[in-house]
Amino acid sequence: MAIRRAILIQPGRDGRYFGRATSEPYTLMRLASLVPLAIPVEIWDEDLMRLPIETLGPHDLVGISAKTLLIDRAKLLARRIRRQGATVVIGGAHVTLAPEEVESWADVIAVGEGYRSWPQIIRDFDRGVLQQRYVDEEWAPLDSGVATLQDRVLQQVDEHRNYWTPYLEITRGCPRSCTFCTAIRVSGRKMRLRPIAEAVEEIERRRLRRFFLTDDNFGLNFRLYPEYMEQLFRALARLPLQGWTCQAEQMVADYPDLLDLAREAHLDKFFIGFESVNPGNRKELGGKGRGEVAHHREVIKRIHAHGINVVGLFVLGFDSDTVETFQAARDFVRTSELDGVSATILTPYPATEQRRELLAAGRILPHDAADGDGLSWAKYDTNHVTYLPAQMTPAELANGYDWLCRQLFHPAQIVRRGFRAWSRHPLAKARVRFVSSFSTDIGYRREFLHRYR
Ligand code: SF4
Repeated sequence: MAIRRAILIQPGRDGRYFGRATSEPYTLMRLASLVPLAIPVEIWDEDLMRLPIETLGPHDLVGISAKTLLIDRAKLLARRIRRQGATVVIGGAHVTLAPEEVESWADVIAVGEGYRSWPQIIRDFDRGVLQQRYVDEEWAPLDSGVATLQDRVLQQVDEHRNYWTPYLEITRGCPRSCTFCTAIRVSGRKMRLRPIAEAVEEIERRRLRRFFLTDDNFGLNFRLYPEYMEQLFRALARLPLQGWTCQAEQMVADYPDLLDLAREAHLDKFFIGFESVNPGNRKELGGKGRGEVAHHREVIKRIHAHGINVVGLFVLGFDSDTVETFQAARDFVRTSELDGVSATILTPYPATEQRRELLAAGRILPHDAADGDGLSWAKYDTNHVTYLPAQMTPAELANGYDWLCRQLFHPAQIVRRGFRAWSRHPLAKARVRFVSSFSTDIGYRREFLHRYR
């Protein structure tokens, strides 16, 4: 069937916040850039627009990318789109983690990264030989210009007008083995690196002044590829950036020279997965942390000494956690020098070791879809209890988490941490860093409040 256009959809959840959306569809921008220029391509972000599904027809190929949390919404959209006669391809994290879950309600599923399979799907659709399942089994090397963003895509997305923070990816993968992690199933256990010149070219072409690095564990490259990091930081230092943020683990504190270079490269803030304040959970942390608060404090202090802020990420509900853990987490955060904080409930996503163990022990709470068609994943948002905790009841975990978040995200605490974060910026950057000093906590508070929707 001759293709008329390719549409890529990001299902919505949050809508606009002061006129802009919070989650840029960066992966879709790269997939859209793989569509040959002769074929019109559009990205529809449901957070920004009402989806004009009534305009779709049999010659349209529609890709929907969804993580687990958004897969229920993707299913609803797929049903409506298929009624229009268009063909629906489902890709993204959830289909990679649980392909059999999706196969019954999509025309096509794309398992894996999609850099190879998406162009193949377009060709097969055009020739009328579409398969039902495409699997990208090998991790695409990032050193060969994979999915360079097309200018037509950048113009259409208009990221500076529509999104709060542009996303960027420079490395991908993580060799750790945290039992709850989906990233290693979606992005692989081998760290892959983009050529530095290519990343710089993208930053310049997109006219980025600030960005969030989506890399799963950018900080681990301090240990794995220190020379690459040094060269990258020196290249970024030459750009007129206002600041950028990334995800890391505690070991970055062991690399003072790289931290100095990172600061010169305009790195503002690390999001660090401390994960727990309970040393009993060490086994689940995949070798990246010990759950010891004295060590957490030392790490924060050493990173601050280089002028970089620290946002602490914590997960509640591991098997060693008890009702006392909430108080311990609250006390640690209150007395730490953290500049922002996130607390989430352990969530046993598909294909994780955690889920396998909980399933085997009969500890996964039922989550059948209300319409009787498969499972519902709406509660898999890290704000709800989806399994039987080992040392608490589900209600104790839910109530303890609720109490903790109300403590952490009390407006007075957000203001306190925000001013502290702001005060760490050099005077010359104080004006441009004011909003970002508060926005991380405000964003996590909004995420917590989803619990009550
Ligand atoms: S360190 Fe982070 S990305 Fe790596 S396995 Fe653990 S949770 Fe996943």
